[in-house]
Amino acid sequence: MYPAPFEYVRAESVAHAIALLAEHGDEAKLLAGGHSLLPLMKLRLAQPTVLVDIARIAGLAGVSDGGDHLAIGALTTHAQLERDPLLGRHNGLIAAAAHQVGDPQVRHRGTVGGSCAHGDPASDLPTVMVALDATFEIQGPDGARSVAARDFFRGFWETALAPGEILTTIRVPKLAAGASFTYVKLNRRAQDWAIVGVAALADRVLGKRIAFTNLGPTPVRGAAVETALAGGATVAQASEHATDDAEPPEDAHATREYRAHLARVLSRRALESIAA
Ligand code: FAD
Repeated sequence: MYPAPFEYVRAESVAHAIALLAEHGDEAKLLAGGHSLLPLMKLRLAQPTVLVDIARIAGLAGVSDGGDHLAIGALTTHAQLERDPLLGRHNGLIAAAAHQVGDPQVRHRGTVGGSCAHGDPASDLPTVMVALDATFEIQGPDGARSVAARDFFRGFWETALAPGEILTTIRVPKLAAGASFTYVKLNRRAQDWAIVGVAALADRVLGKRIAFTNLGPTPVRGAAVETALAGGATVAQASEHATDDAEPPEDAHATREYRAHLARVLSRRALESIAA
């Protein structure tokens, strides 16, 4: 399928991108790696008349050390996340999840900002951001603002980004020395989206955390599992609460019951692996 005709403009800076969005209004869409937007355009599920390409804006890619946190530029690709030395040293959970996104081609084009801005509940990195309590830095015509991960994801393909805004940076905590973490997902083929995914983390400062991919319209923090663990429950007991905070969807890949079953099983496996 071919997309509907569109105009292409390349933004030279964040301010330029914001000005272009303001100029073209609802007709315009930002283009980062294009690996979510272009398939939608080919299916004619999205028909922007103007694409504002932000992929070459300087300074929006890469990871920097912010002292107590790491700042990840929105244009950082999944492949860069996998190999970044700062993430390797201070937050390997992100690298572990990025490694499981799609295939090498997808990981070399797709960006963390695009993945989060797209708001697909089957995406892997948003779940990790919710587990980490990441902060999303946004710029728009009215200036800059910060949004916590728990408030950023609003529903199926819906985020806190307003029209005309651009996600510039995601701030994540550095994990303590000795922290353990994992991201596990079940998919039918190696490069597929998760039927269910689980991010789990045990950190001296942050405590035990768990979040789920594709268990509802947004990434789901497993608050009931975390509470059970904090109260002394075993991993097996706590994992039984995997869907207490979720509304597992039903689709061509899985029934509601199967997804709930997967959530419990993957939750147990993930928590056992970080306890080992
Ligand atoms: P784009 O496609 O360029 O943009 C996506 C949306 O976000 C658009 O609406 C765009 O306007 C908006 N946007 C982009 N950047 C910004 C920004 N900085 N600020 C505001 N809005 C912005 N993902 C997974 O998580 N797991 C998988 O297993 C997986 N498998 C895949 C397999 C295939 C074959 C393909 C094609 C994709 C797969 N993906 C998967 C999706 C992939 O990770 C995408 O790259 C990612 O979701 C979107 O990033 P992008 O940079 O390509 O964004």
